[in-house]
Amino acid sequence: MPDKTPITVAYGDGIGPEIMQATLKVLDAAGARLAPEVIEIGESVYKAGHSSGIAPESWASLRRTKVFLKSPITTPQGGGFKSLNVTIRKTLGLYANVRPCVSYHPFVQTQHPKMDLVIVRENEEDLYAGIEHRQTDEVFQCLKLITRPGCEKIVRYAFEYARAHGRKKVTCMTKDNIMKMTDGLFHRVFDEIAPLYPEIETEHSIIDIGAARLAVRPERFDVIVTPNLYGDIISDIAAELTGSVGLAGSANIGEHVAMFEAIHGSAPDIAGKGIANPSGLLLGAVMMLVHIRQADVAAKVHNAWLKAIEDGVYTADLHGAARLGRPFGSMDFADAVIDRLGHGPERLARVSYADAPTERRTAPPNYVRRAPAKKAIVGVDVFVHAGDASADYLAGRMQTLTHQPRPAGFSLQMITNRGVKVWPGGFPETFCTDHWRCRFMGVDAAGAPREVSHEDIIALLHNLASDGLDFIKTEHLCTFDGEAGYAMGQGQ
Ligand code: NAD
Repeated sequence: MPDKTPITVAYGDGIGPEIMQATLKVLDAAGARLAPEVIEIGESVYKAGHSSGIAPESWASLRRTKVFLKSPITTPQGGGFKSLNVTIRKTLGLYANVRPCVSYHPFVQTQHPKMDLVIVRENEEDLYAGIEHRQTDEVFQCLKLITRPGCEKIVRYAFEYARAHGRKKVTCMTKDNIMKMTDGLFHRVFDEIAPLYPEIETEHSIIDIGAARLAVRPERFDVIVTPNLYGDIISDIAAELTGSVGLAGSANIGEHVAMFEAIHGSAPDIAGKGIANPSGLLLGAVMMLVHIRQADVAAKVHNAWLKAIEDGVYTADLHGAARLGRPFGSMDFADAVIDRLGHGPERLARVSYADAPTERRTAPPNYVRRAPAKKAIVGVDVFVHAGDASADYLAGRMQTLTHQPRPAGFSLQMITNRGVKVWPGGFPETFCTDHWRCRFMGVDAAGAPREVSHEDIIALLHNLASDGLDFIKTEHLCTFDGEAGYAMGQGQ
């Protein structure tokens, strides 16, 4: 008997314990060679005073086993609690979230019988950086961070995954018509990497029409790679299209650690009733078995599960379940899968993982940092909190403050409110909040553009502060190898 593989297991919150018990029962019956270490995470840990939702000693288990089978957890509402899922993914560098969504027609009711796609969701960046601030009475901000290493890793991963799994097409979805710099980078990196995989068809779709097409014709997609938030949303849509959000498993892959879970949450509305569908977590566990090179057990479990689906073993969440009679509870469902171990589907495709690449083997090479660009500061955006000011009034005040009391060497170029230009030449129809972005460009004595220093910016801020202006933050306007590293104002 080969050695057992240590894995870390968390039972989670809500329906988590029910679906984990069901899943582990199936894995055990199938002969999975596992040595689980159980850790506690989620609500009870938050309430015990760990605002991260995980106790320090639990990290040691994760770093030791490097494999995590995790039930969903509940993130307490309100301030002070960060999402533990996001914390785990980011702390352990789990950059790729792989979410296969497959139809089981005609056994699970769906309008999309041919759907078989994989969403590769970037897992660490985007609005999930969780850097949020209240800046004024009226305005709250969340920073969207997209990085070149993040884009390269996820796009490479998506192509490597497609190649390793014999997939034919990779679709990139972004909103780069609006977010030209952040989503623009994601799209650009996709275009840079695509030619390295000439056998794979590629396309890009703006996320709104992409999501609409996904909802109506999911069969036209194969692998989709997309930033974090869009991936989160469209993978729930895709899973629900297959018959239930409870059907899809997910792998969170990093260079050192991998985490396997269901894509759904802790479903507090049905917790404790014993009716949750354990399929998502079970299929996540199948991905884990492939990852830890227990492909034989993975196939055994997956084929028994497919056979159970073919035999009409279903839980209450599946579309059309109501007309089929009494649904199975979570543990009965697990027992039904166990009864079918060693059997496989007759009409659905039988799976084999004999030649399956482990997720580890499909991981892309480490990111190689490029030589830094030549960076020059050419101006500064100063964000100001002013509740009862007009753009013209602020502009008049600030034009003086570029050289008084200290000469700072700037010219006020524009003022925007919520991104739209309101000075010069603003429209009275534009609604203004109490949050103004004032763009100052470096100019020399003759008014020509010039590079500025940090000291110049400090001199400008000194002038604004000494006049009583409440500046709340600055963003430096830089060029990188001569290319502007900042967006224009809307209407500029
Ligand atoms: P949810 O996915 O928990 O539930 C959405 C709907 O789907 C509910 O009606 C639920 O009953 C149903 N559902 C989900 N999984 C099911 C299953 N296995 N079987 C049958 N029905 C199922 O989403 P939510 O209600 O928005 O979130 C609840 C909590 O879960 C929140 O605290 C959220 O933060 C958390 N959450 C956790 C994870 C995770 O741990 N990975 C992911 C998403 C949400």
